[in-house]
Amino acid sequence: MSSSPSRLVIAIDGPAASGKSSVARALGRALGFAYVNTGAMYRAATWLVLHHRVDPHDEAAVAGTLEAAEIRCGLDWRHHSTVLMDGVDPEPFLRDAAINDNVSAVSTVARVREILVRAQRAFAEEHDLVMEGRDIGSAVFPRTPYKFYIDASPEIRAQRRAAQGEGDSVATRDKIDSTRRTSPLVIAEDAHVIDSSRLTIEGVVGEIIGRLRLKGFPLPKTIPLGREER
Ligand code: C5P
Repeated sequence: MSSSPSRLVIAIDGPAASGKSSVARALGRALGFAYVNTGAMYRAATWLVLHHRVDPHDEAAVAGTLEAAEIRCGLDWRHHSTVLMDGVDPEPFLRDAAINDNVSAVSTVARVREILVRAQRAFAEEHDLVMEGRDIGSAVFPRTPYKFYIDASPEIRAQRRAAQGEGDSVATRDKIDSTRRTSPLVIAEDAHVIDSSRLTIEGVVGEIIGRLRLKGFPLPKTIPLGREER
């Protein structure tokens, strides 16, 4: 599966709680593109590892668990990505503390990344996409010209997580994600960086659309920027 997408791909990367998921969802909806949450795919892989009582730090066992699994990715009625692990939808568990605590370890395993990146690239065979994650612009679709890196100050990110009621050690995850050997969180050379600390979701989406316009992206004539339905 090639890293040159057959369809249009907008890559949105950034650290935990930078606001990138809300922005990517709103952008996908505004453009009528599918929204792919790659963090949810790594979380689903972590769910599977924990479900099988495999040690998340045992790389060979983690790789073996993923290799043996039937991983089915798709889109729901909102055109949001879904993932089934051996026929089970782990969605209700993906924000559990055990997943937050172990997802960065599972995500360091190169074989896990290989398997999930292949599935991520497959989405772009059939759909125009907004895809969010840590390595989308740098490793999954390095050839897409549409790359954004959303950041926010550590204080704002901690506040956002707390407001979501999650006891998630964002700083610990960021450290592991930024220092791992395979596809660490980096700002792709040609990415447009947006600091979302003082911006609303609509403000960030507006800035992205302005940038896409400058780059000659084929924008629709009217772009609905309303709030998403849940
Ligand atoms: O985006 P979210 O915070 O849900 O991602 C959860 C974790 O999944 C990240 O902390 C990171 O370890 C991993 N991840 C990754 N590569 C991606 C997306 C997420 O390694 N493209």
